[in-house]
Amino acid sequence: MTDIDFEQLALPGVRGLVPYQPGKPEEELARELGLSSIVKLASNENPLGAGEAAREAVAAAVGSLHRYPDGNGHALKEALAEKLGVAPQQLTLGNGSNEILELVARTFVAPEHEVIFSAHAFAVYPLVTQAIGARAVEVPARDWGHDLEAMADAVTGRTRLIFVANPNNPTGTWIDRERLSAFLERIPPRVLVVLDEAYFEYVTEDAYPDGIALLPRHRNLLVTRTFSKIHGLAALRLGYGVSVPSLAELLNRVRQPFNVNAPAQAAGLAALEDEAHVERSVALNREGLAQLEAGVKALGLSLIPSVGNFLCVDFGREAMPIYQGLLQRGVIVRPVANYGMPNFLRVTVGLPEENGRFLEALAQVLATESVA
Ligand SMILES: *Cc1c(COP(=O)(O)O)cnc(C)c1O
Repeated sequence: MTDIDFEQLALPGVRGLVPYQPGKPEEELARELGLSSIVKLASNENPLGAGEAAREAVAAAVGSLHRYPDGNGHALKEALAEKLGVAPQQLTLGNGSNEILELVARTFVAPEHEVIFSAHAFAVYPLVTQAIGARAVEVPARDWGHDLEAMADAVTGRTRLIFVANPNNPTGTWIDRERLSAFLERIPPRVLVVLDEAYFEYVTEDAYPDGIALLPRHRNLLVTRTFSKIHGLAALRLGYGVSVPSLAELLNRVRQPFNVNAPAQAAGLAALEDEAHVERSVALNREGLAQLEAGVKALGLSLIPSVGNFLCVDFGREAMPIYQGLLQRGVIVRPVANYGMPNFLRVTVGLPEENGRFLEALAQVLATESVA
């Protein structure tokens, strides 16, 4: 039997792909170190977990596991539409908002097109661009955030799609209403703008724009949000896009018939009504961010100010040894060298005691490093 060279058979865009690197799973580190108590602050998960209502909804959904889910997510779309003040026809449900990012690229972008995104932006943007074999146009950042003026300047006749994350992951930087509007005014209608608002609910700044409010004026806009972060439902994979109905209708043609499973739909519905859990999560995050900022600064380190549920710490030198030192002490954070930030580590806001353990471990690692 001759070996098949699948690499040669794969599409050119796929050949060059490097898979997305998730945060290190807790179980893996526990196994490696023989440690029982691990703190994972690596994937921007909600440290409170899912709310009680969502947990109960998942438990109740177990009785119907043999049934296919509602392929149109009717009940969830109705509730979401009501909550967001849009029509259900404007919604696309996704297997995580990640799927929406991929769907929009698969629906509109061909190899001859260009896709614009910022340096240090979410890793999925280059991934979906490359998978299609389209040209990725990475625009240098300004103060670690999106340089929207430069991004608008980068639009050519071949540009089909622009990804904007607000706030951005991993940097935590954000764009105010005025700058976002000025940017959108400059983008021709034939160019789609995906406004990724995965951390929307966490942001409390007055000048932070609600992308959905910009839809009536900018019909080339697709806003994406998720149940993975504030609602603590990352395991269920549930996100959505909001756009004009004609765009949503196209995405709905491309998606798989049952892309969102039934427990996810039930949990999403329950989570939407659980405003107390959202408020608790936002409040906990605000306190945790302040705790981390103060602790990191007290250690003489600088950071990128963040409005998300995570924070990038600047070590002013290669951060990988610090990451390894933290791992040895049972604390998992996220290296961001693959985001062009080798001197930084991203830490997710955890419970107060988890943030404390991170800061304590960090102090120990820095102490050993300076002796070595
Ligand atoms: C976490 C995240 C997402 C998507 O997460 P899903 O779990 O797929 O909904 C999208 N964009 C950014 C910037 C993120 O950080």
